[in-house]
Formats: sequence, C-alpha cells, structure tokens
Amino acid sequence: MNVADSTRLSSALEQLGYSPSKKIEETDVIVLNTCVVRQSAEDKAVGRLSSLKRVKDQKPQTVICLMGCMVGMGEYSQLKKRFPYVDVFSAPSDISRLVSFLLETEKVKTNEKREMAQSILEKDDNFILPEDMRGNTVAAFVPIVLGCSHACSYCVIPLRRGNEISRPPEEILSEIHLLAKQGIKEVTLLGQIVDRYGRENPAYPTLGELICQVHQIDGIERIRFLTSHPNWMTDELLDTLTELPKVMPHFELPIQAGDDEVLHQMRRGYSVEKYINIVEKIRARFPLSSIATDLIVGFPGETAEQFNHSLQMLEHVKPDMTHVARYSPRPGTYSAIHLANTVSEEEKWQRFRAVEELQEKITSAINQKYLGKKTTVLFEGQKKERWFGRTPTNKLIFSDSSQPLLGKIKEVKITWSGPWSMIAEIAAEK
Ligand code: SF4
Repeated sequence: MNVADSTRLSSALEQLGYSPSKKIEETDVIVLNTCVVRQSAEDKAVGRLSSLKRVKDQKPQTVICLMGCMVGMGEYSQLKKRFPYVDVFSAPSDISRLVSFLLETEKVKTNEKREMAQSILEKDDNFILPEDMRGNTVAAFVPIVLGCSHACSYCVIPLRRGNEISRPPEEILSEIHLLAKQGIKEVTLLGQIVDRYGRENPAYPTLGELICQVHQIDGIERIRFLTSHPNWMTDELLDTLTELPKVMPHFELPIQAGDDEVLHQMRRGYSVEKYINIVEKIRARFPLSSIATDLIVGFPGETAEQFNHSLQMLEHVKPDMTHVARYSPRPGTYSAIHLANTVSEEEKWQRFRAVEELQEKITSAINQKYLGKKTTVLFEGQKKERWFGRTPTNKLIFSDSSQPLLGKIKEVKITWSGPWSMIAEIAAEK
C-alpha cells in the first residue's frame, strides 16, 4: 500500500514540474513515507527522519514531508513538537496536504502548474505513472480499499489508516484504463481486507463484480488481489474467479496463528479448521494455485505448545510462502494495553527461525515439482542482465535471452528451482 501511495505522490509531483533527484542535498522536496506496523519499522523511520534534520539545517528551503502510518489519521501536534523541522504531515494515502502546501507557499510557480495542482486536489483521476516507471514497468498496484475496520487485537493499521472505505468503482476502472494505456499489463488490487471491497456501500459492486469489469479492460492481461481474510473469501467470489482467466491463481491469505486460543486472543474471528477449509476450497477450484500466508510468533501468552500448533498447521497446509513476524506491541492496540508481552525476545527469534526453516523446506519441495514443467511468465525487467518475471502462481523466474522481453508473456520451461526463485528457458511466445 505504501508503494502505491508513494507512486501516486511521485506522479502528482511530476505533474507539478518536479523530477526525481539523485542527491539529497540538491533535493527541493523530500517525502518520507512510513510504516509502523512493527516496532522495527518505526525505529527505521525515526532514524531516517532524524537524519533529514541535517539536510534541513544546511538548506532550510527544502520541504520535508512525513507521510504514512507514522502520522496516522488524527492530529499531529506531538509529532510537530518532536520533529519541528518537518513542514508537512500527511496521513496514509493522502497526497493533498503536500500539494496544498506547495501551492500555498508558492513553490508551484506557473499558472499552468497551479491549475494542475488544483485539478489534482479536486479529482482523483489523473494518475500518470512517474517518469522512472514509464516504459520500464508492466505491473502496478491499485488501491481499492483504504483503511481497515476489523481491529485485530495486535494491529495498529485501523488506528493509523482509519476505517475501511472502498474507492468508487468508476475511479478505479478509469485509473486501470489509464494504466493500460501506459503499458501496464498486470494490476494488483489492494486492500487490507480486499475481499470486503464495496461492502459498506450498497451501490458498489462486490470484489468479484469489480474484477469482472477489470477483466474487460484491453491491455490488462493479469489481475491479482491482496490481502484476503478467511472470513470474507466467499464461495461466490471463488466461483467467479474460476471463470476469469486473467485472474492469477495466487492467494494471499493470512492465518497469523495455528492455535485457536491464540487466534481468539488476536480477535481474528476464525478457527484453524475454518482456515484449512478455505484453503481446501481454493485448491479444489484452482489445482495449480499458490498460497501465501502471514504468521506472528510470540504473541502475548503464546506457549511453546501453541507455537507448535502453528508449525503443525504449516506442515499441514504447506503454503508456498509464509511472511513471518515477531510480535511487537503497537501503542494503542488492545493487545498492547491489555495483554502482557510474555514471550522473551530470544524465544521470539527462535520461533521465527523455526518457521523460516520449515517454510524453506516446504517451499523447496513445492518448487521442485516445477522442474522440467512448462508455465507462463510475464517478464517485468532485467537484473544483472537476466530477465525476470513471475509465473501465474507468483514464483520469481529468471531467464537468459538476447531478445527484449519486457512486458512479454512467454511460455517457459523450468530448468532449476530453489526456494525463492527458479531459472527457466524460453519455450515459446504466448
Ligand atoms: S484485518 Fe486485522 S491485521 Fe489486517 S489490517 Fe485489519 S486489523 Fe490489521
């Protein structure tokens, strides 16, 4: 979500005449877009922000904008006291504050650019890819649900990104049309609980209906969506997806814990059995699919036995990927206020490593099955002279080719597989 927000802000700034700068000392506007989902992310953001004071001291006219979850949705007087050299504080996904500041302080000079700034402030349908992405990028993120109203007991996102709100469908579709015209071939629709798209507004389509409309857009060849929640991934949605060949069979379905008592304390609203049942439904409909999950280790009160249930659950479900995190209490959340952080940091690290080790084994075994098989890849760019792209199941593939492959969907044959990437030779053009 932050990548999507940053891209939109870059686009707005470029429309006002700014361009990317390589040297921080020469930069006119610096935006630090922050994540505070875990303490380590917040520490990193604070460290980076503190280092910008030197830049401001040396060149006071530099505009510094702090954006994202560190700012949150409320008032920010405490932050202003702590970081007085910051000029603009901007909530997640909100690009208007910085644009307004640049207008008001007359940093946007020509009439033409001032009109552009007004138009950016008034409507949200002029998203043009930033210059460094144009012609180099074939995949883009499109936020469709902002905020979250679920309130899992450990999660700071509802406090920082606000209540769930779906973007109007016309706005989303016009943005994707515009992206397709700029060479985008794959869109990933984003939401904290993306399956809840449109639920708060009866006039809006459901996620399945919205994806059907995206499916009709010429130029868009692949559609992904994330993140799902077990309570909202319905049979109806899954049935709709089976009819839509542009939808890639990759599902981001967090479980967070493999023990019912811990899930209850987390206020996730489902059981391990329900989660497994949904995975089975996905696999029955999409036999060649992949599943990624999220897991927190060291949640308050999590015993060694409960943690073992998480390992057993992973052994049983065999997800393609587990994004594992060590629990850290986030200010203002239910678990930070009411539940004692009982698991030591050392123990959290041990559990973290145990999950990583197990997942590596599971992923290696899954990826081994790709060896010698054919699949398709949308090539997204080059790294160290090797083309890279992803399979429908979101596996990272590297291929050697002297042909320009950017934006091409090719049939490939897998010749080597590791846990985190694979190597393939080009078989034929799609
Ligand atoms: S569903 Fe839970 S974990 Fe996900 S953003 Fe909402 S509150 Fe946070």
